[in-house]
Amino acid sequence: MALVGVLALQGSFNEHIAALRRLGVKGVEIRKPAQLDSVASLIIPGGESTTMAKLAEYHNLFPALREFVKMGKPVWGTCAGLIFLANKAVGQKTGGQELVGGLDCTVHRNFFGSQIQSFEAELPVPELASKEGGPETFPGVFIRAPAILEVGPEVQVLADYPVPSDVLDSNSTIESPEEKIQSEKKVIVAVRQGNLLGTAFHPELTADTRWHSYFLKMANDVAEGASTSIIAVGVD
Ligand code: GLN
Repeated sequence: MALVGVLALQGSFNEHIAALRRLGVKGVEIRKPAQLDSVASLIIPGGESTTMAKLAEYHNLFPALREFVKMGKPVWGTCAGLIFLANKAVGQKTGGQELVGGLDCTVHRNFFGSQIQSFEAELPVPELASKEGGPETFPGVFIRAPAILEVGPEVQVLADYPVPSDVLDSNSTIESPEEKIQSEKKVIVAVRQGNLLGTAFHPELTADTRWHSYFLKMANDVAEGASTSIIAVGVD
């Protein structure tokens, strides 16, 4: 199994590395652009996306991260990592925040409210139930979590969540009428677009490794596809 990088600037990178270890996979801490050359896939952890962006800028990581995404290498963003991967972020305190982008969606930062409005919920995730086996739901840990308000046509929705009524009442930061209409029903909390995976919650803070297995399978499929095409080129 090829090495998996974990962006280790800030946030829950140790927990991701521990979850990978439980699956027998080595996670490599990534802090500098050149270190990305040694890994075949990348996890961007949760934390605080403004701080993470400042650190990424300080280490000149944005161009290398964008290149990594453009090359089609598998990347999974959890929570703040999802914000990093999104093409657009809205909501409070978003002003001017630099994003890696690539994932065709609009995320709303801190959608569910402040830190004390963090919560846990059992999320139905049909894709995990069918591919990874086990229970039909996944324990979602939402810590000052974002939500996805809009997705592009290439994006597969893997999980959504009903908007709590107090959030609907208080969320004055929903910016356009279209966003408001969407949010009145459910918001999206897990997506996949090709080799990009995004979850608004923190699987690394649970004992359930099915999301990590799912991501490793994605990475494996890409690696196998790459070696097949190398062979195909050789035969030609
Ligand atoms: N609220 C944080 C942000 O906007 C994300 C929270 C998290 O990663 N748990 O960056």
